[in-house]
Amino acid sequence: MIGKGLAGVRTWQCAALCFGLLACIAAQPAAAADCPGHPDALGTSRTLVVDPREHPRIGTMQYAETLPLEDHEVVLTFDDGPLPRNSNQVLQILASECVKATFFTIGRMAKENPEGVRKLRDAGHSIGSHSQNHPLTFHKMSVEQAKQEIDDGIASVTAALGDGAALAPFFRFPGLLHAEGVEEYLASQGIQTWSADFLADDWRHVSSSRVYELAINRLEAKGKGILLLHDIQARTVAALPRILHELKARGYRIVHVVPATPELPATPTEPQQWQLHPPSETVAISHWPKIPNFVFTGADTLPAPALSDFDWRDGQLMTLVEPLDRARRLARGVPLPREAPWPRQSPLPLDNAASALPVPAESIFEIQEKRHAARRPVAPSSHHAEQTVPSERETDGVARLISADARDSRRMIPRSPPITEPGLRHVLRHLI
Ligand SMILES: [Zn+2]
Repeated sequence: MIGKGLAGVRTWQCAALCFGLLACIAAQPAAAADCPGHPDALGTSRTLVVDPREHPRIGTMQYAETLPLEDHEVVLTFDDGPLPRNSNQVLQILASECVKATFFTIGRMAKENPEGVRKLRDAGHSIGSHSQNHPLTFHKMSVEQAKQEIDDGIASVTAALGDGAALAPFFRFPGLLHAEGVEEYLASQGIQTWSADFLADDWRHVSSSRVYELAINRLEAKGKGILLLHDIQARTVAALPRILHELKARGYRIVHVVPATPELPATPTEPQQWQLHPPSETVAISHWPKIPNFVFTGADTLPAPALSDFDWRDGQLMTLVEPLDRARRLARGVPLPREAPWPRQSPLPLDNAASALPVPAESIFEIQEKRHAARRPVAPSSHHAEQTVPSERETDGVARLISADARDSRRMIPRSPPITEPGLRHVLRHLI
């Protein structure tokens, strides 16, 4: 409901002074040297103050802008909590390294564990909201339904905190399943929509070592950015100390993000700082897959396509091989480029390929866990696989759901090449 949303913003504004003071206290960077008892801690190098109204959508996985970070700067985010068993351990690990992060909490989880939300605040972390029930249907529900989910989530977290002073106007769509109308609503409320710059797939059934590898490899590929993790996952708890240790070893610095208030103005930045460089690195899930020249090969067995087989231009997916008539060019004596193995053109009517398609099924980006990450380019993958809001006693159930989903995905797409033409047709049908 708009009224509740506006009330939420008014709460933020009315509490601006209090929050500003809190933010000033919480925003003090904890240099490693200042981390009591942990002289080798990673620490928090600086606090970045952002104005959601100036930059309402961030995270290059889906949007043009991301946080204005310097090279080797990282923002840690944790979704779906609080869940005492694992969230408390995440808090302890972060505290031991004097690292500040941003937590996107679920309203229902906050109702079940309000003390967990207060612990986030008391530890000086930023708290955003992640809807009331974590439905994975934001991209297809009505805006009115979405407003209800958003506003209820804000209300639940606010109630857990006792007031809205420590709740930042930051929101992340469950499963990153965004919708433009909902984004507009959030922006109208002064709420900043957070996507991410890279994931570590810690909601999947992978080992903690794999979470560590993905986090570090994907960070290294971009050089900086927003990392999305889940504080409710045991594998994340297990991976986090090693991730933080490696960040320090590789010279990365942690940035803590807080919202601007009248008393705490936004950190001065230039517009270009909100662009991740270079543009070719910014793979936007929201634009996948616009397929103006998507073609299928006629061969029976060819290697599966890699992300590097595509070129992203202004949100349009282009194959690297243009649909050229090779024979005609040969006849004219035009030199031909080396032919890529995939995809060769063959006419296939795609008139019904909608221009605004949903986020791709995560199965499209199924990661072959048995292969080393360095052997293939890092592909974007959709966020959560969970189907329900996890509670502490439900976590195992959620894990089973994820597992089942992953098995389904593996059945749908072979884990290893080749992908045949019928297989690709199946994938496209699934996408549409
Ligand atoms: Zn989530």
